[in-house]
Amino acid sequence: MQSMKIVQYPHPALRFKAKPVSTIDKEFHLRIGRMFELMYEAKGLGLAANQVAIPHQFLVLNITGDPSQKEAEEVFINPVIVERKGSIDDSEGCLSFPGLYQRIRRAKSVMVQAYNIKGEAVEIEATGLASRAWQHEIDHLNGVLFVDKMSLVSRISSKTTLGEMEAEFRQAQKKGEVPKDLELGQILDSLACEA
Ligand code: ZN
Repeated sequence: MQSMKIVQYPHPALRFKAKPVSTIDKEFHLRIGRMFELMYEAKGLGLAANQVAIPHQFLVLNITGDPSQKEAEEVFINPVIVERKGSIDDSEGCLSFPGLYQRIRRAKSVMVQAYNIKGEAVEIEATGLASRAWQHEIDHLNGVLFVDKMSLVSRISSKTTLGEMEAEFRQAQKKGEVPKDLELGQILDSLACEA
């Protein structure tokens, strides 16, 4: 298994439309375990596979953010939002955009259909923080980022931070610390075939 880490904007994995998962094998379980570790290290509540450069449709969540609360850990495979109700503005951040927080409008509650780690079909209704986390993480699987959902005002106030992140990423590519976009795209394409 390749070494996994959380990738940051503007890594191309964050814009990749992930492919549905068809097998839950030993490697899948290893990936899930590592994703929880990375999520807790970064003090997050959720992490989508795209964020560790795996273009497959699954995500991990623990909306308590507390690693000792194992019963709150959830894994969802091929999740789809089937219903949205209401709308609400609240502050939101993302592990792929460290330090950037903005108010984002989201549905107040959502109904999600997915498969759990046992491969069983589940349907979940979520409100509040859970609803926001669901929408944010499912967006990731579709290559959609919270910066795409910002108001014009938030967009303007984020411009400098985003510009700095882009410059840093391109610099790392120039130094050879990160592969070029073309190569990253090829890696993602070949991983996508394994879903
Ligand atoms: Zn995110």
